[in-house]
Amino acid sequence: MITLQQTLQSAKRRLADLPHANPELEAALLLCHLLDKPRSYLFAWPEKTLTPDQYKRYTALIDQRLSGTPIAYITGMREFWSMTLQVSPDTLIPRPETELLVERSLYHLQGRSQPRLADLGTGSGAIALALAGERPDAQIHATDLSAKALTQARENAASHSLNQVIFFQGSWCDALPTGVSYDLIVSNPPYIEEDDPHLSQGDLPREPSTALVSGSDGLSDIRLIIQQATAGRLKSGGWLLLEHGYQQATEVHDLLRKAGLAEIATHQDLAGQPRITESRMVEK
Ligand code: GLN
Repeated sequence: MITLQQTLQSAKRRLADLPHANPELEAALLLCHLLDKPRSYLFAWPEKTLTPDQYKRYTALIDQRLSGTPIAYITGMREFWSMTLQVSPDTLIPRPETELLVERSLYHLQGRSQPRLADLGTGSGAIALALAGERPDAQIHATDLSAKALTQARENAASHSLNQVIFFQGSWCDALPTGVSYDLIVSNPPYIEEDDPHLSQGDLPREPSTALVSGSDGLSDIRLIIQQATAGRLKSGGWLLLEHGYQQATEVHDLLRKAGLAEIATHQDLAGQPRITESRMVEK
């Protein structure tokens, strides 16, 4: 009989061969997933044993991870802004740095009651649902080009009872209802360059490329979003917040300035990289 502790140690050794992985954490997360227990259980009961069937199924999960499947696609979930979201290969896996978009959005919404918000390219629904949880008074429209992503996002909305988010299928602002303008538009669009070597690293090869890649300079979708948002979609005094690549802040500033937006500011993520840029539609 093999104990939980021994199982974790051997899985950790196997996972050490996988680049961009966190062997100790991932071995534990996969065992928790298999046993349907919290992580504290593994520390409380290291001497408990696995049945041969459990051990076999755990080995299969480790094999799947070693073949490059992201851990979030194996467990089918990822934490974002204190919510557990379901994720699948149809959606980008929410990243911790994207929480900065939520944080800055909430900051700009202070003092606005019943604000109207749009989350463009919502994927699993992460940003829209985090904002909905914090601002029950907000009306939130979330869009995505992918019908499968929207199915996932709607399920996440339902499981957290965040009914004030309405989902629309289509490209960026084109998907939004005609004639509606917003206090705040937020987006984590694709922003990676077509030939960026990062695309072959970590979880990226298994994620939908439409959620990652945006033309030869990575800015095609950001250009479109800025153009559409400033063509009647942002209210006067409304904010546009965009996530972008760590090397794109200057170009994004230029695009925003040329589009007539003001109060442009970039914020750094937890790794110290310039990661989001916010800007405001000037009062007319
Ligand atoms: N932040 C992701 C990465 O570089 C990319 C997400 C995106 O393109 N929006 O891993």
